[in-house]
Amino acid sequence: MKEKFTFVATAAAGLEAVVGKELRALGYECQVDNGKVRFQGGVRAIAETNLWLRAADRIKIVVGEFPARTFEELFQGVFALDWENYLPLGASFPISKAKCVRSKLHNEPSVQAITKKAIVKKLQKHFHRPEEVPLMESGPEYKIEISILKDKATLLIDTSGSSLFKRGYRTEKGGAPIKENMAAAILELSNWYPDKPLIDPTCGSGTFCIEAALIGLNIAPGFNRDFAFEAWSWVDDNLVQSVRDEAETKAHYDTELDIMGCDIDARMVAIAQNNAREAGLENVIKWKQMRLQDLKTDKINGVIISNPPYGERLLDDKAVDILYNEMGQTFVPLKTWSKFILTSDENFEIKYGTKADKKRKLYNGTLRVDLYQYFGERVRRSEARKVN
Ligand code: SAH
Repeated sequence: MKEKFTFVATAAAGLEAVVGKELRALGYECQVDNGKVRFQGGVRAIAETNLWLRAADRIKIVVGEFPARTFEELFQGVFALDWENYLPLGASFPISKAKCVRSKLHNEPSVQAITKKAIVKKLQKHFHRPEEVPLMESGPEYKIEISILKDKATLLIDTSGSSLFKRGYRTEKGGAPIKENMAAAILELSNWYPDKPLIDPTCGSGTFCIEAALIGLNIAPGFNRDFAFEAWSWVDDNLVQSVRDEAETKAHYDTELDIMGCDIDARMVAIAQNNAREAGLENVIKWKQMRLQDLKTDKINGVIISNPPYGERLLDDKAVDILYNEMGQTFVPLKTWSKFILTSDENFEIKYGTKADKKRKLYNGTLRVDLYQYFGERVRRSEARKVN
């Protein structure tokens, strides 16, 4: 149908640049914006980006953009777009999202209804269907979204289906899991490389360790799931299969990794282990039931990534204060290790006992969190004994 598309890869606030970097690594030029990254490509790009982007939420096609200050302008603008190039006869096309921000049009249900009406009318005209008969919508789904920002309407079709953070490996998640795409992004923001040891001492359902292993083995994060676009008539099954096959050849299953996840709760360790098995990483990650206060290691130049309990979520305030304080003391001997701690506690540094080298604001869902970053002292292996 179409050869070239404009896309946006959506991302959580604070992670757009990470998605931009991933897109460039896949060979796509892109522009990083608030909450999204824009790029262009063909049908192959739909498959490739959905399968490979680790930090993005969804990949959406930009069908068009136009000024929409009145309902008439909205209707005409939607009608004028080339919907027939995306939606075959029989397609189901719910307007799954209508969002108006700082615009004259602000009644979202009406915007949604008018958008639907205009697309129906366009398809009826294109396919020579009588106007009085509703279109059958029994085929594959193309979810349509409209956003009107400062009187400019943008029409999108979601290609992903469920959000890309749903990799398909998490069977159970415990009380306060971090999203998989956020965990991957934090790893990409950290100074961890697959040749360094990695420990998550509060691993919960194991997200950081599993995402690290997928990065380390160069396994496509979406290998274990399906996407909405795979059901679309104009997406060639063979093309999708070839992108999936290629991903298989790019994985380096024999890369040596040193990744360990620990948690005080034996039940969480079992869940993490299960999730890793589901991701096909059974023998790649070491899991251990352990209090983080008992963490000791002779290894050097490693990275600790931790998303410890926050007050609001899992523990009462007093217990959090003690835990953060003990965490600080436990990490003191690990001088060559870098530490990345994600918490919503604004007084983390005081409780932990050291000021972070760097802080980065992120959002875990709607919860504002900070990534506190402490960089390890780099030493050569021969000098290591004196330091650690
Ligand atoms: N990032 C995880 C969620 C971590 S929630 C995920 O994606 O699932 C915090 C975890 O810290 C919980 O699983 C809790 O059991 C664990 N925890 C709390 N106190 C601990 C301690 N003293 N030592 C180790 N783990 C602890």
